[in-house]
Amino acid sequence: MHAFSYVKARTLKEATDTLLAHSEAKLLAGGMTLIPTLKARLAQPTHLIDIGGIEALKGISLKAGQLTIGAATRHVEVANSPVVKRAIPALAYLASQIGDPQVRNRGTMGGSLANNDPAADYPSAALSLNATIVTNRREIVADDFFQGLFTTALDSDEIITAVRWPVVGKSAYEKFPHPASGYAMAGAFVAHNTKGTRVAITGAGPGVFRWMEAEQALGKKMNAKALEALQLEAADLNEDMHGTKEYRANLAKVMTKRAVAKLSGK
Ligand SMILES: Cc1cc2nc3c(=O)[nH]c(=O)nc-3n(C[C@H](O)[C@H](O)[C@H](O)COP(=O)(O)OP(=O)(O)OC[C@H]3O[C@@H](n4cnc5c(N)ncnc54)[C@H](O)[C@@H]3O)c2cc1C
Repeated sequence: MHAFSYVKARTLKEATDTLLAHSEAKLLAGGMTLIPTLKARLAQPTHLIDIGGIEALKGISLKAGQLTIGAATRHVEVANSPVVKRAIPALAYLASQIGDPQVRNRGTMGGSLANNDPAADYPSAALSLNATIVTNRREIVADDFFQGLFTTALDSDEIITAVRWPVVGKSAYEKFPHPASGYAMAGAFVAHNTKGTRVAITGAGPGVFRWMEAEQALGKKMNAKALEALQLEAADLNEDMHGTKEYRANLAKVMTKRAVAKLSGK
């Protein structure tokens, strides 16, 4: 690990000012991804700005059909929150399936979305529900936020402060976890409301994406059987020692069918 200066920010302004003052500084939230990256010397920031103690970045509230979750809210808090369980049960369930207890006790929603790991869980919920990512400068809808492998619309000096989740209709999440890490080999988040159905797939490709053909099929009939004849195009999917493209395409379909069955009770 290379040497760096550690800054414990007490306010969002302090974090923003420090980030602006040092072009090679990095934000530290739960450290679950960043610390291993530093240990492997894949990143060499001059400053680590710890935002984990900023009260304004924490908390869960429900108002006027919007569930707002602070960026520094830990996965375990989302998983156990009665407010989240009532408003968007699938989101609480998703959080309960991330990694292991240690990861859930440290990792944060903002860190996960900013990192945009192609196998992470939260991006699929955000894209399916088209959540709004609120930063210290603007609001970005999920449709515009995720831009491929570990890439988002965030500028290098931008901080996610909260995520706003629309509370409408029904949703469900299913993933096939990698047995070692818990990351999704393939996961599907399905959201259904009066405007239609959105299906977001994680783990299978180089980044989270919507499966439009499944959305169209489910628009006609909200039933897992509606997906029977579909096959997710495998050409652009991930292939590694854990699974081929075709395996992941099939797994994504199976996870989507399970999520639809859970959501529709069929
Ligand atoms: C063993 C293991 C298993 C895991 N399994 C899973 C899993 O099953 N599913 C899953 O989804 N994830 C999994 N993770 C990842 C975990 O969810 C992390 O919490 C997450 O990827 C990063 O969140 P963090 O708060 O730890 O962020 P950090 O590691 O502190 O930061 C990650 C990146 O995000 C940036 N960042 C952090 N907060 C903000 C912010 N508010 N605004 C802008 N940028 C920010 C940092 O600068 C850094 O670049 C696993 C991790 C480990 C180590």
